[in-house]
Amino acid sequence: MAAPAWAAALVDGLCAAAGVPPPILRWRHARRNASSGVTRLEAGTVAVTAGTDALDQQLTLLHEVAHWLAPSPRHRGRTTHHGSDFYAIAFRLYRDHGIPDAEVLAREGGRYPAALRHARTLGLEGAEEAWHGRREALRERARVRRAPRVLVAEHRVRLVRDGRWTRCAVCGVRVVGPTLARLRRRSGRHIVLATG
Ligand SMILES: [Zn+2]
Ligand SMILES: [Zn+2]
Repeated sequence: MAAPAWAAALVDGLCAAAGVPPPILRWRHARRNASSGVTRLEAGTVAVTAGTDALDQQLTLLHEVAHWLAPSPRHRGRTTHHGSDFYAIAFRLYRDHGIPDAEVLAREGGRYPAALRHARTLGLEGAEEAWHGRREALRERARVRRAPRVLVAEHRVRLVRDGRWTRCAVCGVRVVGPTLARLRRRSGRHIVLATG
């Protein structure tokens, strides 16, 4: 499908301004809100699957044009697609085309969380808060993950033989060595926690 006129004009204009030959622009529609895109430098194409949200179409197209204008650097055999060079261009394009910083942070940051770090470095409005907010969320998630869950509630250990081993009959934990010797002398209590 032919790209809409605004998209073709946008790509041609940006490439002309940068002195870069324009890509072949491929365009198709999807019945969803968000758009997605892919840039293939070797094939010379920028392909956009356009969702229904106009702003997202524009942001996605500009994102891909930024890839086209700023080929990803390779470092130790790895290609960095969304590094600082990329975002220096992408964020400038978004701003030049009137996409509010808050929208950029929400959309770009939602897809590529690392974008928030670059947005902060490049001084987008609200990036500092968005970056801190995400860090807090990650910390909170890690904290919740680390909190131990009780697998078996606290109980009095009841030793039973299991072949050549001794186990606690309540939770099944194998009891060995000094702990076994101690539990044989006097009763003890168990609680089984899981982390992770
Ligand atoms: Zn990208
Ligand atoms: Zn037990």
